[in-house]
Amino acid sequence: MTLLHANRALLPGGWANDVRIAIDGHGLIATVDTDVPASGDLQPMDCVLPGIANIHSHAFQRALAGRTECGSENDSFWTWRKLLYRFVDRINPEQMHQIATQLYIEMLKAGYTTVAEFHYLHHQAGGQAYADPAAMSHALIEAAGDAGIQLTLLPALYMQGGFGGAPAEAAQRRFVSTVDGYLDLLSRLSSDTTPGIAFHSLRAVAPEAIDEVMSWRSDNAGNCPVHIHAAEQSGEVGQCLAWSGMRPVEWLLNRGIDASWCIVHATHLTADEIGALASSGAVAGLCPTTEANLGDGIFPLAEYLRAGGHIAIGSDSHVSVSPIEELRWLEYTQRLEHRQRNIAAGPDQPHTGQRLVEAVLAGGARATEGTDERGSGGHIAAGYRADLVEIDTRHPTLVQCADEDLLDCLVFSGNHNPVRHVMSGGRWVIRDGHHELENRAESHYRKTLAALLN
Ligand SMILES: [Zn+2]
Repeated sequence: MTLLHANRALLPGGWANDVRIAIDGHGLIATVDTDVPASGDLQPMDCVLPGIANIHSHAFQRALAGRTECGSENDSFWTWRKLLYRFVDRINPEQMHQIATQLYIEMLKAGYTTVAEFHYLHHQAGGQAYADPAAMSHALIEAAGDAGIQLTLLPALYMQGGFGGAPAEAAQRRFVSTVDGYLDLLSRLSSDTTPGIAFHSLRAVAPEAIDEVMSWRSDNAGNCPVHIHAAEQSGEVGQCLAWSGMRPVEWLLNRGIDASWCIVHATHLTADEIGALASSGAVAGLCPTTEANLGDGIFPLAEYLRAGGHIAIGSDSHVSVSPIEELRWLEYTQRLEHRQRNIAAGPDQPHTGQRLVEAVLAGGARATEGTDERGSGGHIAAGYRADLVEIDTRHPTLVQCADEDLLDCLVFSGNHNPVRHVMSGGRWVIRDGHHELENRAESHYRKTLAALLN
């Protein structure tokens, strides 16, 4: 049993002082007691938060961050995608492993303790399967194991180049699988991990395939999370309307989605879609820095939170690896649009920073681990996984912060990284801001990028 004492900790009911946290040998929190004085048999900690889930990652895109910013007049998501595809043609499983290891260590240092990897780069350049069809998936599983981050692997089904069965482009061949091939991949992975399910998007997957995979899921994978990109781009909404007479999120709602679904981006929603998506219990998987970088648009946060909608955050293309920056961008885009302040504040939680953090802790656990919360992260409470982040409150931006102001200051007062120690699944992975593999991982990452980008 590991015993910790936190001067203060964010518990499900809010801040508490003098918190003793007991962690069992399986990495789960056994007990949480408050108002327990510090003592010699308790490891001392200052201010402790639950680790945040990063619900949307394409690990290989980390290598391209910042390298697609030299543009021309008509640059858009679609021209960015062309650059991405050129890079995709070159990467192999070992390089995927090195990039993902570097990225996952960066995530832990920033306070993410879980990552949902939305993985669609399955095959060799040219489209042939690897000798081990799960080679790329295994590269990601190994990277997460090396870094010590909790992984929800979401192998993504990608079948076609556009709505209505349009053929895949040459550059998309590495992504494309049949439904049978996809289900075979899920079966192969089930001995190593508990994979979730992802459909790349409605433009990349046939409706019958969604039905077939969901039927496999109910027989084989219980209530595992299901993720899909939807309504990220207004162009995609127009194409979906032309194909089906419905908008992407409207189409999914009509087909039936529930609390185990995560709709990634969901940027372009009508008032009816906002209400129905919130009522479904599904999570809107928001990636504010990537959505800003790609010029996607602005998610209707105020309306969605008012409707009781669930949110979570992801770093997606990894132009930033910081939950603080995601939350700040999420709120600031709203302020710019509405010309008001404190958009995410609510009647039950008037502190914007705290409301955002609490929302993405709960939504992140749901989107990465499904609705059966026991054993998942996201809360400091008995039965939850010991994913803990200690914040250094000695920094000038956080000194003299009362409990209720602390998360506001954390999100809105600076650019330093306040994360000191991180525990993932009961194991210390970051101590004093460092990971034991960081030098080796960085050296491999440098070599990998030299090979890929030259
Ligand atoms: Zn994505």
